[in-house]
Amino acid sequence: MDTLGNLFVVAAPSGSGKSSLVKALMEVDVGVAPSVSHTTRAPRGQEKDGREYFFVDRATFDRMIEAGDFFEWAQVHGNRYGTSRQAIAARMQAGGDVVLEIDWQGALQIRRLFANAILIFVLPPSWDELRARLQRRGEDSDEVIELRLANAREELAQVNQFDYVIINEVFERALFDLKAIVHAQRLRFSAQKRVHADTFKALDID
Ligand code: GDP
Ligand code: ADP
Ligand code: 5GP
Repeated sequence: MDTLGNLFVVAAPSGSGKSSLVKALMEVDVGVAPSVSHTTRAPRGQEKDGREYFFVDRATFDRMIEAGDFFEWAQVHGNRYGTSRQAIAARMQAGGDVVLEIDWQGALQIRRLFANAILIFVLPPSWDELRARLQRRGEDSDEVIELRLANAREELAQVNQFDYVIINEVFERALFDLKAIVHAQRLRFSAQKRVHADTFKALDID
C-alpha cells in the first residue's frame, strides 16, 4: 500500500520496556500516534478498553479474521493479538506517523505489506533484568511470567531480521535512541521533499 506517513514497528520480549518507551516517545512527539490492537487477553489492572487494547472474546476476534479486518494477527503467549486495518490506514494515508507495538510474527507480516515499515527491536540488558522487570511490573502471575520468559528465547532469535536495535538498560538513553530513529526517518529525501516542497521548488530541485 502507498502511504505518506512512516510506519514504525516496535517488538521486544515482554518486560523489555517497549510500552514504556513508546509511551514516553508519544509524550514528547505528537507526530507519532499509536495503533490500538485487538486482543483476546484479559485487561490488566489499569488497562481501559479502547486505550491499551480493544478487549474482545475469541469468537469476536475470529469473526474479524474471517471478515478480513486485520492487517496482521498472531497467537502470542496463548492469546490472539491483531492490528486492524481501521487502526492505521486512515492516519497513514493522511501523512501521519504510526507506531505499532506488536510481536515479531506480526512485525514480519507488516513488512511484507508495507515494504517501507521500519522495524525496531528492543532488547533487555540481561536475562536477570528481564525477569526482575516482569516481577517488578507486578501485572502478571508467576506462571504467566515463566511462560513469557520461555517465549523470550524464541523472540530474541528474530532480532537479526530487524532494522534497528535498542538496548533498554538506562531508560533515558533508550528513549534517546528511539527518538533518533524516528527523527532520521523524517530526514529521508522523500519525506523532506514532501514536507519542504516550497524549499525544493525554490532551489529548482525536482
Ligand atoms: P507485553 O508483552 O507486556 O506488552 O504484554 P501484552 O500482553 O500487552 O502483549 C503480548 C505480546 O503481544 C507482545 O509481544 C506484543 O507486542 C504483542 N502484540 C500486541 N498487540 C499485537 C498485535 O496487534 N499484533 C501482534 N502480532 N502482536 C501484538
Ligand atoms: P513491555 O511493554 O516490553 O512488556 P514495559 O514497558 O511494561 O515492557 O516495562 C516492563 C517493566 O520494566 C515496567 O515496570 C517498566 O517500568 C520497567 N522498565 C522499563 N524500562 C526500564 C529501564 N530502562 N530500567 C528499569 N526498568 C524499566
Ligand atoms: P510506565 O511505567 O507508566 O509505563 O511509565 C511512565 C513513565 O515513566 C514513562 O513515560 C517513562 O518516562 C518513565 N519510566 C518508566 N520506566 C522507567 C525507568 O525504569 N527508568 C526511568 N528513568 N524512567 C522510567
